[in-house]
Amino acid sequence: MARAVIVGGGGTGDAAAFALRKRGFEGDIVIVSADSDRPYDRPYLSKEFLRGEIERPKVFLHDERDYTKERIELRLGERVTGGSLQERKLFVEDGADLAFDVLVLGLGGTPRRLPEIPTAENVLTLRSLHDSQAIRESLGRSSRLLLIGAGFIGAEVAASARRLGKEVLVVEALPVPLQRALGREVGEIYARIHRDHGVEVRTGAKVEHWHAEGDRVVGISLSDGKREDADLVLVAVGIEPNLDLPRALGLPIEGGGVRVDEGLRAADGVYVGGDIALHQHPVLGRSIRVEHWEVAKGHGRGIAAAIAGGHAPYTKLPYFWSDQYDVNLEYRGHASGDDTAVWRGNREGLSFSVFYLRNGRVEGVLSMNDSGTNEMGGKLIESRRVFDAAALESADLAELVESPSAG
Ligand SMILES: Cc1cc2nc3c(=O)[nH]c(=O)nc-3n(C[C@H](O)[C@H](O)[C@H](O)COP(=O)(O)OP(=O)(O)OC[C@H]3O[C@@H](n4cnc5c(N)ncnc54)[C@H](O)[C@@H]3O)c2cc1C
Repeated sequence: MARAVIVGGGGTGDAAAFALRKRGFEGDIVIVSADSDRPYDRPYLSKEFLRGEIERPKVFLHDERDYTKERIELRLGERVTGGSLQERKLFVEDGADLAFDVLVLGLGGTPRRLPEIPTAENVLTLRSLHDSQAIRESLGRSSRLLLIGAGFIGAEVAASARRLGKEVLVVEALPVPLQRALGREVGEIYARIHRDHGVEVRTGAKVEHWHAEGDRVVGISLSDGKREDADLVLVAVGIEPNLDLPRALGLPIEGGGVRVDEGLRAADGVYVGGDIALHQHPVLGRSIRVEHWEVAKGHGRGIAAAIAGGHAPYTKLPYFWSDQYDVNLEYRGHASGDDTAVWRGNREGLSFSVFYLRNGRVEGVLSMNDSGTNEMGGKLIESRRVFDAAALESADLAELVESPSAG
């Protein structure tokens, strides 16, 4: 009987394991994860769990008995360091080799550390449940949080800390928050939202000097010479995809990830999903690597479909959301800063969508408190039809979706 080994107990790995069983895979399923906790819902870690609104049991994706019932073996706190694809085996740190017939990798990433940032007891990063617990406890004892980086994690933690009544200073090297992900104009809107909620946002700023007392950072001096105090620091400057294992296995590494085909396959019987997968997306017609929760879970399910049913292209569009204060952001597709932006809705009232067009095709749709439009936008992306940017600004979207000749 075939044995599927899944390395990584995150969004990809957990979804792959349960979907494999659902699709009738009868062989052994083993999840090996370096994390000592069973798979959990990572997005809670910067939001509800961090704020103490939910506790650990609510964060886990499944009860322990679900793994027993589905005959999924969980090997937690074990790290895979290498292996041989030819001999179909993996090397487990401090353990015996592990044989597989089919291999799934969903390894996620490790928070980036900048060399100039000192190592100190109160300088933290956020990726795991353990990290979130530590930040939650430290926040409880702190009054002023310094966030280095205004990406999604930084922005969400800023919003959470404000809700807990903490003072928050965000230092971002770029001119606006979330610029890389959302472009300048939407980034400016986010900066305004955070400022309106009492966050001090210092953009285009650099830390010149770190002030420490013992093994704690107590403040920074910024490039403008101003000193700022803080009793907790969170460094949120993105992740490094975990590529050591794929490299050791000789898998193709490209564009910061592992190159996989349309069906998420990196080599014969080896599938890769989530943050580390550079996927040849069949609908968008190009390779994309996306660091989002729904994508990781979707990849897990897509990999299970491919294993159970032979070659199966994974066609779902990337989707993500972010909640900050009472602002809900949704994004479908995959656009870049150079694409033409078509705005619809009420910018001032924070209920709008932005369509990103390349050569007339919609590549991505971002929506703020405008979920219905986002969903329709997804259908326009999938249609791969060519639209006129000016017409799209005011067109009846439902009609466009319904009628292929409109637009
Ligand atoms: C705090 C936080 C909030 C987020 N919020 C959102 C959100 O609101 N919306 C959204 O779309 N996305 C969000 N994300 C991103 C999302 O969680 C990730 O994109 C997703 O978890 C990626 O899934 P994955 O399976 O690729 O990796 P992960 O979920 O990171 O899982 C990787 C697993 O692999 C294990 N591992 C790594 N290397 C090895 C090895 N060599 N041997 C054994 N095990 C190994 C790790 O321990 C881990 O368990 C958030 C991320 C964080 C950190």
